[in-house]
Amino acid sequence: MTTRPTTDPPDPPDPRRRSLLALALAAGAAPALVGCGTASIAWRADPFGLGVASGCPRADRVVLWTRIAPSAGPSGPVAVDWEIAADEAFGSVVARGRETARAEDGHSVHVEVAGLDPARWYWYRYTAGGERSPVGRTRTAPAPGSTAPLAFAIASCQHWETGRYAAWRHAADEPLDAIVFLGDYIYEGAPRSGRVRRHDGDGPTVTLDQYRARYALYRSDPDLRRAHANFPWILTWDDHEVQNDYANDRGENLAPDFLVRRAAAYRAWWENQPLPPSMRPTGPDLRVYGAYDWGSLARFHVLDDRQYRDWHACPPPGRGGSNTVDVAACPELVLPARTILGREQERWLYDGLARRDVRWNLIAQQTLMAPFTWTKEGRVWTDGWAGYPAARDRLLDAIAERRVDNAVVLSGDVHCHYVCDLKRRVDDPPDRVIASEFCGTSISSEGLPQSRVAGALPLNPHVHYGRSDERGYVSLRLTADRCEASLRAISDAGDANATLRTAARYVVAGGRPGPQRA
Ligand code: FE
Ligand code: CA
Repeated sequence: MTTRPTTDPPDPPDPRRRSLLALALAAGAAPALVGCGTASIAWRADPFGLGVASGCPRADRVVLWTRIAPSAGPSGPVAVDWEIAADEAFGSVVARGRETARAEDGHSVHVEVAGLDPARWYWYRYTAGGERSPVGRTRTAPAPGSTAPLAFAIASCQHWETGRYAAWRHAADEPLDAIVFLGDYIYEGAPRSGRVRRHDGDGPTVTLDQYRARYALYRSDPDLRRAHANFPWILTWDDHEVQNDYANDRGENLAPDFLVRRAAAYRAWWENQPLPPSMRPTGPDLRVYGAYDWGSLARFHVLDDRQYRDWHACPPPGRGGSNTVDVAACPELVLPARTILGREQERWLYDGLARRDVRWNLIAQQTLMAPFTWTKEGRVWTDGWAGYPAARDRLLDAIAERRVDNAVVLSGDVHCHYVCDLKRRVDDPPDRVIASEFCGTSISSEGLPQSRVAGALPLNPHVHYGRSDERGYVSLRLTADRCEASLRAISDAGDANATLRTAARYVVAGGRPGPQRA
C-alpha cells in the first residue's frame, strides 16, 4: 500500500485500475510502451475502428482479437488491456491482462484465454491509450459428453465491390453459437469502378502492407464487424485470401516469386483473424486445418484444400489456375495420385473421421465436393473437387469404409446454394447415399447466371437444389437427432438494408444420410 496524506481523498473503489497498476508493476512498468495504465494517446481516429472478434472456441478457451486501426495512427508498440467477463456489464471479470500490439504484427492483438467454463457466453473488451473498444460476445464449446444443441452459420465469399453486407447484418441477429467461415474473406483484385463499392489501393494486393490495408477496408463495414462481435468464428481460407485459383506454390499467372506473395497473404490473414498466437506464420506455410469439438454432438473437421493441392489439371495454355475441361480430353485429371488435401492432411482427416465419439462429423471446407458436370459427356470445372476426382473418391471411400457417423460436408467458393447427396460413386443408386453436402452461397460475390445452373441440374440428379442467383448464407441447427439447414437469401446484394428470406429448408435425420426437403 502507498501511504498518502490524510487530506487526500481515497481512491474510488475501481478494481480495474488497481489491477492495471498491479500488472504494470509486475511487468516492470515497461516504459517503452505507449498507453500504459490510464495514459491517453491522441488517436487520429478510433483505434478500435476495425472492431473486435473471437474465434477457435474450445470447451475451456477462446481466442480474442483486435487490431489497432491504421487510421488511428499507431506508431511503435501499443499497450492494449483486455478483460473478459461472465456478464455483459462486466460485473464479474474472470480474466484480464495486457498485450502489446506491435507494428510487425500489423498492430494486431491475439489473446488465447484458457481456464474458462464450458458451454457459456462471455463478454470481452479492450482499452488502449484511453479509448475503450466495443464489447464483443463469445462463447465456449460444451464439454465432452454434452449433446446440447448447436446453431451456427456457414458463410463465404464476401467480395467488397459487388455487394454490401446485409447478409452479415441478418446473420448477426440470429441466435447462433458460432460462425464457420469457409473462405474468400477478402478478394485480392485491383479496384474496379462501376460497382457497388470500390477496393482500395491502385492494384492487386501483393505485399504485406497491401493485404493489411485490404483487411482494414473489409473490416470497416459495420455489419461484418457486428457478425464478428456477436459470435466466435471458426475459419478456414480459400484462394482469394492470396490469389484467385492458386494451387499450393503456384499462382494463376505463374509468377516465379509466388511463395513470397503467399507468405505475405498468410501473415496478413493471421494478423486479421481471431487466431491464436501459436499460429503466427513466419514464412509461406501455415497449418490451418484442425478439429473443433462441440461437446459430443459434433466435430468440425476444418480443411485446407489450397496449400497442399496438386496443380490444376489441364490449365489454360501458358497459365496456372482453373479451367473448364471435357473429362475425356484431360487424362491428367483422373490420375489416381492426384490430391487436393495433401497426403498428411488426408491421413489426419481419415483418422479423425474414424473416431466415432461424436454424433455429427461436419467437414468444413472450401469448395463443392459433390460431382458436378456441365454436359452429358462430362465437362467439369477443375478448381473444385471435380478437378481432383481420385482425392474425392478416397475421401468418400474413407467415409463409407470407416462407417463415419452422420457426415455432413459444408462448402462455399462457388457463389451458389447447392444441396447434395454424396454417394461413394456418382452413379451409385439413390439409396446408397453416405453423406450430405450443404454448399452455402456467397455473402456478396457474384454468381454464374442461374440459367446455366438450372440447365445443368438435370445432369446432376444427386444435386437437389442449385441457386446461383441467391446471395446469403446457410444457418444450421444440430441436435442429437437431426441437422436442419436453412438456406438464407437477401433481397438485394447492393442494399445494406436488404431483407432476408429462407429460400429453402432441408433436414438430415440422424443415422440417415441425405438431405430431405422440409
Ligand atoms: Fe469466392
Ligand atoms: Ca474461391
